[in-house]
Amino acid sequence: SGHSQEVMDRFEKLIKVAGKEKEYKVIQTGCQGLCAKGPIVVIHPGAVFYEEVNPDKAEVIFREHVEGGNVASKYLLREENADGTNDEDFKFYNRQTRIALRNCGIIDPENIDEYIGRGGYEALGRSLTQMSPDDVIQVVLDSGLRGRGGAGFPTGKKWKFACGNRGQVQKYVCCNADEGDPGAFMDRSILEGDPHSVLEAMAIAGYAIGADQGYIYVRAEYPIAVDRLRIAIRQAREYGLLGKNLFGTDFNFDIDLRLGAGAFVCGEETALMTSIEGNRGEPHTRPPFPAVKGLFQSPTVLNNVETYANIPEIIVKGVDWFRSMGTEGSTGTKVFALGGKVNNTGLVEVPMGTTLREVIEEIGGGVPKGKKFKAAQTGGPSGGCIPEKYYDIPIDYETLKSIGCMMGSGGMIVMDEDNCMVDIAKFFLEFTVSESCGKCTPCRIGTRRMLEILTRITEGKGEMEDLNKLEELAKYIQANSLCGLGQTAPNPVLSTLRFFRDEYVAHIQDKK
Ligand code: SF4
Repeated sequence: SGHSQEVMDRFEKLIKVAGKEKEYKVIQTGCQGLCAKGPIVVIHPGAVFYEEVNPDKAEVIFREHVEGGNVASKYLLREENADGTNDEDFKFYNRQTRIALRNCGIIDPENIDEYIGRGGYEALGRSLTQMSPDDVIQVVLDSGLRGRGGAGFPTGKKWKFACGNRGQVQKYVCCNADEGDPGAFMDRSILEGDPHSVLEAMAIAGYAIGADQGYIYVRAEYPIAVDRLRIAIRQAREYGLLGKNLFGTDFNFDIDLRLGAGAFVCGEETALMTSIEGNRGEPHTRPPFPAVKGLFQSPTVLNNVETYANIPEIIVKGVDWFRSMGTEGSTGTKVFALGGKVNNTGLVEVPMGTTLREVIEEIGGGVPKGKKFKAAQTGGPSGGCIPEKYYDIPIDYETLKSIGCMMGSGGMIVMDEDNCMVDIAKFFLEFTVSESCGKCTPCRIGTRRMLEILTRITEGKGEMEDLNKLEELAKYIQANSLCGLGQTAPNPVLSTLRFFRDEYVAHIQDKK
């Protein structure tokens, strides 16, 4: 971001002029996670982080650190406390547990050797040579891994449903990389920073269910991710890690890319597969579920990017290791895209069960300008808001659901005392109205009517009766929409009505 390319160019030039090409190499990695302080430069050995680097700062860092052997302390990445002092214990990184993001910001994503150097493809080798396909499924089942893309369905169960008749029927493994929630960018970061982790996991899934072909459905609006995936697939083929007879076995597996059609609804699993088939990406009813009849009418496993990124680590480090993080029903970690009114915006990965307070106050560095935290919106347009009274609940699939929220893909937008919750609900509803594919009436018309009412309220023309109408419509849309987009579209409105009804009432009574 920002001056990244210029910074790289400057470092390369400085290294060349100083004749230090043999000692130092400049590598463009994926995202370091801390967007608020980018561009970030890390100098090894010692992993010294520098923040907001521009070409002039690069010059100083080079002179002081690379040539002088001292840390250029003026530009060192530091955490700013609410009182303006700096904290040497940089909680943004220290309080995280990185599994899905383990290689992001560390390796050169365009060099397969660096992935292999960090243990990459060991899980695939182990699966193919030491485990049966059923063993692999059992490990994924026992790990308790749940889908990180939205509803949290157990990944191992999905694989088990699709594993019958191995070798007798054509099957597919798909990756949903059509990340579309406003504010969520963890899948993008994984694809840009560690694409091989997804390829390796898909091959493992292929072995587990008996599929020889994978497809990654990736957002066309993510050109760097697309490029890096293309490079990764090419390199994996060159190394014999995709293609025929992997690890000297009779298992064949290859992966192709399909570029997203640009519609949010294409992230819905049935629409996604229809789109891969070359048709208009519209959802259809389930059953049949993809594990029975998915892509090209064949049994298909579909997981999202973050889910796949966990798989190789689970295979190598084992079930007990994975289950030691998180809660009983939600094992492992979750990546959140922290945005809005918080000091350290960026990507954070924490064990499930971490409280909102820890994420926002410790890792996120709190709400800026001494303002008061009001709520956090999770799950994007399908989710809801967590008010301050739940600041200390452990975040996992069940607790969020119990308060009318949703993990979703992990967008987390922080709101302070100045934010209007009715505006927030309206923002998300506008998004779903414009992204509704129009196939079914409750979603196509219902969400539009809800938006009209909300607009009326925010313009000071609402009536108290409108709140009942909103709730009535919301329930009808939830119950009767064809796909997840419509079924969850009313959530932001219902959630804000539940916790911040007084703000709706204020708009109506104050007529503003
Ligand atoms: Fe399309 Fe909405 Fe119906 Fe889903 S719920 S099929 S997005 S109209």
